[in-house]
Amino acid sequence: MARDSRTDARVRRLTFVRRIVGMALLAGLPALIVALVLLWSGPYSSQTQWTLTILMTGCWLGISLALRPRVEIPLHTLSNLLSALREGDYSLRARATRGDDPLGEVMREANLLINTLREQRLDALEATTLLRKVMEEIDVAVFAFDVSERLRLVNRAGERLLAQPAERLLGSTAAELGLGSCLQSGSHPGERVFERTFLGEPDVTARWGVSRSDFRQGGLPMQLLVITNLSRALREEELKAWQRLVRVLGHEINNSLAPIKSMAGSLEKLLGRAPRPADWEEDMQRGLRVIGGRAEALSRFTGAYARLARLPKPTFQPLEVGPWVRRVAGLETRLPVAVLPGPDMIISADGDQLEQLLINLVRNAVDASLEGGGGVRVGWKKNGANLEVWVEDDGPGISNPGNLFVPFFTTKPGGVGIGLILSRQIAEAHGGTLSLKNRLSGQGAEARLILPLRGELIH
Ligand code: ADP
Repeated sequence: MARDSRTDARVRRLTFVRRIVGMALLAGLPALIVALVLLWSGPYSSQTQWTLTILMTGCWLGISLALRPRVEIPLHTLSNLLSALREGDYSLRARATRGDDPLGEVMREANLLINTLREQRLDALEATTLLRKVMEEIDVAVFAFDVSERLRLVNRAGERLLAQPAERLLGSTAAELGLGSCLQSGSHPGERVFERTFLGEPDVTARWGVSRSDFRQGGLPMQLLVITNLSRALREEELKAWQRLVRVLGHEINNSLAPIKSMAGSLEKLLGRAPRPADWEEDMQRGLRVIGGRAEALSRFTGAYARLARLPKPTFQPLEVGPWVRRVAGLETRLPVAVLPGPDMIISADGDQLEQLLINLVRNAVDASLEGGGGVRVGWKKNGANLEVWVEDDGPGISNPGNLFVPFFTTKPGGVGIGLILSRQIAEAHGGTLSLKNRLSGQGAEARLILPLRGELIH
């Protein structure tokens, strides 16, 4: 087929060259005829007539035919250049000719085209090489399946996961490889997490993230499967959370145990003294009160811990925003809390949980304002598809933002350090967020609760 079209092109090119030569012959013909007529009708000897006839005809034919290579050679050059390009050979160049010559311009453009194509090809090659390298080095298993769910591509991590070399895996169906459920050809592309074992990863508790997407290769639909071992990352996160918790727990328990231990030691010494001091009973009572107080604090602390671990799921019911905020502001007796109302709105939420959340925020704000002097303001507004409730104070502001939401982190003598983390858990269970930042204008902090509105009633 390709050969036929090449031959056709050659024939067409030749007829084009013949046409040019034919036109040159035609252009010279009238002049030659007139010259011959004048020559043969004039008073010349027959020897002169024949000599001039042969000379003129020879020149006419010679000059016309000399045109042929002049047209044919540049066309040949162009044709060779183009076919070399098609074969992927970018080393050929057309010879440069004079700048104002249209043929020279064609050749120069052809050379520029070759340069551009060569650069593009180099870029594409480099990108493909990089992609291949990444695919091989990445610690994520990548598989590509064709329409009949047969494996067409697998990287090194994929080979390791299935514990077989690519040559054995390629061509097998997803079901044969045990990946049928991951592929689920009818389902939409997306990500899932599941637990299972693979030959190359026999850990029974391993959790895998699977992402499936569609792409086309050579016009045919393919499915890309990317499988990641999430266990390591999850374990590292869990470990970090545990370490943080143990640090805080240790700190808190020590805070209570150290005075209990030292007080018990002092009381023991007191009892062992002979004779005992006159006010020993008073000392004894004071010591026992300290021990009782610390034990009480410890039990409050463990109670709070249990509360944090057992937060129930929210029960969604209509909740009027205005009354909710005003009720919580009214509960505070230490400082008057100003309410800056927003629009009347009814949202769908767990009223008890949101009340607890706002109490925590207002209490913290009042604690801070009592410390730094100033007031507390609460307000709300509708921001796009969200309800935003804010609580701002004129306290000293946040000095350690990294620890705020760490369970049991507190800077207050009688604090438990679960108010903020509990409030954030409630906000997130409602699909929202809770943040606490220093105010941009003026001293103090601002807590911001953002709750998504899902078709709630707005008056
Ligand atoms: P607690 O109030 O029992 O300490 P929280 O979890 O409610 O526990 O708060 C943790 C810590 O965050 C507080 O001890 C305090 O240091 C800081 N904090 C909370 N709210 C504010 C605020 N409005 N201004 C300054 N610091 C705050």
